[in-house]
Amino acid sequence: MAKSPDRGVVNMHQRHWDISNLFVIGASTFPNSGAANPTPTILALTYRTAEAIVDKYLKTPGMLA
Ligand SMILES: Cc1cc2nc3c(=O)[nH]c(=O)nc-3n(C[C@H](O)[C@H](O)[C@H](O)COP(=O)(O)OP(=O)(O)OC[C@H]3O[C@@H](n4cnc5c(N)ncnc54)[C@H](O)[C@@H]3O)c2cc1C
Repeated sequence: MAKSPDRGVVNMHQRHWDISNLFVIGASTFPNSGAANPTPTILALTYRTAEAIVDKYLKTPGMLA
């Protein structure tokens, strides 16, 4: 996850930089260790993505920057 496509695969909404209808949910979008309890962060990011899809993407499909 990164602010620009040259630094990461998905944006802050976990939307793929090149594929507008692909959202990546899970621990793969940020550096983590299983021993450092990443699950709350996964859940928080999932809520953020769901909110962005419902509030923004479904109304105006596209980049969702
Ligand atoms: C032993 C252990 C203990 C842990 N304890 C904690 C803890 O106490 N607290 C905490 O916060 N985190 C803990 N973690 C880390 C946490 O489990 C992971 O960070 C989290 O499960 C990652 O979620 P995910 O959805 O990204 O991936 P996963 O939960 O790994 O989900 C990926 C899914 O994709 C499926 N899959 C893979 N390949 C394919 C395919 N080709 N087609 C279809 N499906 C596929 C897999 O079967 C799996 O169900 C622990 C991890 C381990 C290994």
